[in-house]
Amino acid sequence: MMKPQIDLGKCDGCGLCIGVCTRHNLVLVDGVVAFVEVIECDWCTICEAVCPRGAISCPFDIVILE
Ligand code: SF4
Ligand code: SF4
Repeated sequence: MMKPQIDLGKCDGCGLCIGVCTRHNLVLVDGVVAFVEVIECDWCTICEAVCPRGAISCPFDIVILE
């Protein structure tokens, strides 16, 4: 299962991504964000979109069903 990738060097611990994750999968650990899969990530990519520092990337495959 793919999951959001977090660049700890870019994260400043602002918490914006934590507040928008509807699945509560993001937490602060020692001042930086960590992914903990409480409820299965639904790949919404909101965490990636909201991060002002570009610290999260969602490398999910796009599958087109025909
Ligand atoms: S929004 Fe970005 S900078 Fe802020 S806590 Fe999340 S990953 Fe870190
Ligand atoms: S992709 Fe969506 S569900 Fe998954 S961690 Fe980010 S905000 Fe949460």
